[in-house]
Amino acid sequence: MMVLTKKMIEIRNILQKVGQSSSLTLPSIVVIGSQSSGKSSVLEAIVGHEFLPKGSNMVTRRPIELTLVNTPNTKEEYGEFPDLGLRRITDFSSIQRTLTELNLAVPDSECVSDDPIHLTVYSPNVPDLSLIDLPGYIQVVGHDQPLQLKQKITELCDKYIQAPNVILAISAADVDLANSTALRASRRVDPRGERTIGVVTKMDLVDPIRGAAILNDKQYPLRLGYVGVVSKVPHTAGLFKKGPANLHSAIAQNEHSYFSSHPLEFGSDADVQVGTTTLRKKLMHVLEQTMSSSLQSTSNAIKQELEEATYEFKVQYNDRPLSAESYLAESLDAFKHSFKQFTEEFGRPQMHELLKNELDQKVLDLLAARYWNKPISDLSMAHPELDNIADLPKADPDSIYWHRQLDASTSALTKLGVGRLATTVVASSIQSHIERLLSESSFSNHPFAQGAIMDAASMILNERFYSTSDQVENCIKPYKFEIDIEDREWAQGREHVAGTLKNELRDCESALTQLETSVGGRRKLREVMGFVDKVRKGDIVIDGEGNSGAGGFSAALLSKGREAVFLRDRADIIKMRLMAVKSKQCANLKNKYYCPEVFLDAAASKLASTAVLFLNVELLSEFYYNFPRELDLRLGRHLSQDQVEKFAKEDPKIRRHLEVIRRKELLELVLDKMESLKQLEGRERAVKGGK
Ligand code: GDP
Repeated sequence: MMVLTKKMIEIRNILQKVGQSSSLTLPSIVVIGSQSSGKSSVLEAIVGHEFLPKGSNMVTRRPIELTLVNTPNTKEEYGEFPDLGLRRITDFSSIQRTLTELNLAVPDSECVSDDPIHLTVYSPNVPDLSLIDLPGYIQVVGHDQPLQLKQKITELCDKYIQAPNVILAISAADVDLANSTALRASRRVDPRGERTIGVVTKMDLVDPIRGAAILNDKQYPLRLGYVGVVSKVPHTAGLFKKGPANLHSAIAQNEHSYFSSHPLEFGSDADVQVGTTTLRKKLMHVLEQTMSSSLQSTSNAIKQELEEATYEFKVQYNDRPLSAESYLAESLDAFKHSFKQFTEEFGRPQMHELLKNELDQKVLDLLAARYWNKPISDLSMAHPELDNIADLPKADPDSIYWHRQLDASTSALTKLGVGRLATTVVASSIQSHIERLLSESSFSNHPFAQGAIMDAASMILNERFYSTSDQVENCIKPYKFEIDIEDREWAQGREHVAGTLKNELRDCESALTQLETSVGGRRKLREVMGFVDKVRKGDIVIDGEGNSGAGGFSAALLSKGREAVFLRDRADIIKMRLMAVKSKQCANLKNKYYCPEVFLDAAASKLASTAVLFLNVELLSEFYYNFPRELDLRLGRHLSQDQVEKFAKEDPKIRRHLEVIRRKELLELVLDKMESLKQLEGRERAVKGGK
């Protein structure tokens, strides 16, 4: 007998995980009663422990779905809150505290919630039962409670007392049964009294004759009958509390001494049912019967549900198997594969280009600061238009001034912190490549994995940062003293810097065009620029333009005019220098003082090449080796099952896919268990019939 209920409760718990429709559940015993009817005392007498929340302030605000599991082979008694991940709580006062907290977490304004608390109690002293404790009915709404509270409790209870659940209607003996809220509620949903067990508490508070009469009630006849109990914890129970089974025996003794002292009313001839032990047996019996009889209909509902899940799996997911683990593993493999491809495409040439671009900018800045800020005539050192080319260079090749200028520029270039610059440029480029790879991967829908992967990348890059910077800085150190440029390098520099200057020229010109548009046309801009030029030359004197501008131009317009003049001048200089670079003079390394652009470009290339050699060893190879391993560490075996699930479910498509599969598997599992249960039941029946 017991095995059946145990297995059915197991199935009931699995079904709870499948969730949803109410046809997909096996019945439970629902306990209802008004406040102070003795409901908690009855439940505690069944469990053998005080564990329910106590207090006057509406302490039960959520349904407590209580599963009792009989563990005959152990002595240990403990409770578990599976939803909270709280396991093996052996101290029942701690269970009581947790329940109180969970209930009081429902805000006063809501007062009750239909979100159930799941609690499982394992003990050799409990029967296998599935019980649901509900908030007690209240008669009068307290002054500090919401008016609709009464209504809300009734609605919550009504939801649970539907068929096929068994109703345990608790009424106190000292209150007229006609006034029992529990019995009235049960009547509404079970008018013929088919699935209600009446429990009459506080039998000790009424005269035994009257007590016996209540139990024989004919006004509210119940097929499953009434059981009278005295479940108040006797005063001496404090003494018994320590031993696990002692609340049981204390109550049993107390009850026994009361009922046996009135043999006429409650003795074996009296035809009434009394005592907590009787009640427990009855509950077990009734629950098993009810569960068995709904086995078939539940199993049909499950079959139907399974068919639907199977169909959905086929149509929407092509029967493609998937698990959170396999999904993670596949995503990780794909990502590592794309990373591998990236490593083949990103190496020394790419790092060189990155770094060279950066140094080109620095070279332009240096040129602007040291050379291009001079009046144009000074810059004519290699200007074919301004001077007779044959005469070039005017500037004395031994002129200390031009020597110093180039030396200072070269020194500024080599000392600008190439080590740090190179490392930063490469590291941030790697980082943005990883970001791009991520956005193209299936991880793009997974913030958790994205975070872990970006973290892994920054961790490795950060760890290598300082030593790489230092190494690079060290190895370019000789260049700080001297840079020897060869003819080949000079030729390359000459070609390359021409490109850089052209790009810069293009940028200047497009910025000018933009300014034109922003002020409303070329003519307008010319006008302002003309004005700015005159002011600059001193042809026009203005005494501070303030906010209102000058010369009929607004302050904003003047500022744009000045910007345009700057850009125009810069463009002129660049054009001139481009010509210089292309001139014959600059074809020769010997004329390096006239062609600082070429020399600095060649120097920057040397710096970049040397830096890249070390970046390759110190940063890139290290990163390429460590990154995939770090990914395995962070997203591989070290993740817990929960984390893997959480990861997979971040993607809504994957979540739905996984849910269908899980649902299907759970339903198959349940159906399988049900089939073997039916066989077991059949065999038991056959054995009984044979007896
Ligand atoms: P609940 O509000 O329905 O859960 O009721 P409780 O179980 O908390 O009981 C309310 C009060 O009635 C408490 O003071 C209990 O000690 C008392 N009580 C419960 N059962 C009995 C009983 O069988 N006999 C007597 N005399 N008092 C009882």
